Amino acid sequence: MQRCLRCGGEPFYYRKYSGEMLCRGCFVDSILEKTRRTISKYKMLKYGDKIGVAVSGGKDSLSLLHILANITKGHASEIVALIVDEGIEGYREEAVKHAVDEAKQLGVKYHILSFKEAYHITLDEAIKQRQDSDLASCTICGTLRRRALDLLAKDAGVDVLATAHNLDDVLQTFIMNLLSGSTERIVRSKLSEDSPPIFLVRRIKPLMEIPEDEVALFAYLRGIPFQRATCPYMNESIRSEVRSILNEMELKHPGIKFNLLRSYLTISSNLKTEAKNSICSICSAPSSNKVCAVCTILTRIKHEESANKIAK
Ligand SMILES: [Zn+2]
Ligand SMILES: [Zn+2]
Repeated sequence: MQRCLRCGGEPFYYRKYSGEMLCRGCFVDSILEKTRRTISKYKMLKYGDKIGVAVSGGKDSLSLLHILANITKGHASEIVALIVDEGIEGYREEAVKHAVDEAKQLGVKYHILSFKEAYHITLDEAIKQRQDSDLASCTICGTLRRRALDLLAKDAGVDVLATAHNLDDVLQTFIMNLLSGSTERIVRSKLSEDSPPIFLVRRIKPLMEIPEDEVALFAYLRGIPFQRATCPYMNESIRSEVRSILNEMELKHPGIKFNLLRSYLTISSNLKTEAKNSICSICSAPSSNKVCAVCTILTRIKHEESANKIAK
């Protein structure tokens, strides 16, 4: 039987796209190494950067926190966990608890901001209150969540915000943007220095070269407890279709996801769109339109009051 390619130990995981057989320990090390390599290859961090990690309580974000705490140990970079509580009764409490527990265990400071504090409305209330059914719950949540993370990051004084998007997340979003004709979103998603400043704090995706199943395996091997239940509002049928197509193709043609990632990186950095950088007339956040996405949503859910309140 084939042994671990690195140390000759007991075989545990066969990495099809690289042809490596790995033991448990070498698999875990390989994830830490791969993340370190991604960070340096794309110059994601500068010396001494204070890093905010967006932690939702799922396997990806808890693994990211764990990995970054490990690879920055003894370095100048400080890490803080940034936790957004959207206000989803019976679901979010467990995730927040996992996030807080893991931060405490790693000795990482954490900050929590709820939708209620930021917008004076929970996600449950926003969804109940929404008047038009065109406004998908994931759109409301995603938009409000991104801003809440920005506010948390700014408050915590971080230089950079790390999100836990893995290889599959990045590819699915790329394909979904292609399928919906949203080319400007492809440009915005690259988040490099020269892209339009849609966020208050720079974003990085240190796990973007690690497949979803390897992140899950890492969380399992490291014994990281995470929330398994899926969000009660989740309704992403196109994303799940894209996910299964890509997984089927990867099974038949190992390495094809990395080819697609290369295409995404090349296309997103060469694509030019009209970058309309302005600021929102209600809340003064960076926006490509007169009114930003957050204020548009708060207005559409008939909650103008909270749109005005965040205009500070
Ligand atoms: Zn080994
Ligand atoms: Zn606004």
